[in-house]
Amino acid sequence: MHPLVTGFLSLVAPTRCPGCDEPTEDSSVFCVSCAGLIERVPGPQAVFEYGGPVADAIQRFKYDGHSELGSVLGSVMAGDAHRWAGQVDGVVPVPLHWRRRRARGYDQAALLSRPVAKSLGAPLLLRGLRRVRNTPRQVDLPHRERQQNIAGAFAPWRLRGVERVLLLDDVRTTGATLQAASEALKAGGVSEVHTFVLATRVLAQAT
Ligand SMILES: [Zn+2]
Repeated sequence: MHPLVTGFLSLVAPTRCPGCDEPTEDSSVFCVSCAGLIERVPGPQAVFEYGGPVADAIQRFKYDGHSELGSVLGSVMAGDAHRWAGQVDGVVPVPLHWRRRRARGYDQAALLSRPVAKSLGAPLLLRGLRRVRNTPRQVDLPHRERQQNIAGAFAPWRLRGVERVLLLDDVRTTGATLQAASEALKAGGVSEVHTFVLATRVLAQAT
C-alpha cells in the first residue's frame, strides 16, 4: 500500500480488526489473519471483493449496530479514492429510505463517504439524492428482479451547479442500485457519475 495511505490509515486505525474483532497489532486496519483472506479488486470502482472478513466487517457495520466502523472502512476507501482528486465536484452517498435510516440509526453509505469526501477536499452532498421509495432489500431478491425493484427509487434533490459526482455505496451486487442512482443524478443535471464501492460481489453467471 502507498506510504501516504498507510500513514493516513494509522491515524484512524482501529485497535480491533473490523473483520473478526480481535485486537490488531500494528497500524493495519485488518489483522494479519483476516488480511491474508481479503481480495483486492483491480480497477477504480471497488476496493475489495465481497466475502470473508470483508463481508463480516460489512455485516457488523450495517446490521449489528457498529456504526463506528464507518470511519474505519471509509478511510480504507479514502486511501483508494485519490485518483478522483480534482475530478469530482462532490461525493454523493446512495441514500437509505428514511424509514430504514431511522430503524438502523445511521446511513452506512453516508458514514463511508465522510472520510472519502474529506480526503478529496470535495463537498459531501448528503442531500444530492433522495430515496423516494422504500424498496425490499436487493439482497433478498432474485437477480432478475433487482433492476425492477430499484427502478425509480431515487430522485435528484440538491445538486445545483454539480456536474461531476463520485457516487458511493457499501456493496455492489448487480449494479442495479448504482445504475438507478446514477440515472437520478443525471436527471438532476449531473453530467459525469463515477461509482465507487467498498466491496463488490463477484457473481456467478445469472441463470
Ligand atoms: Zn481479523
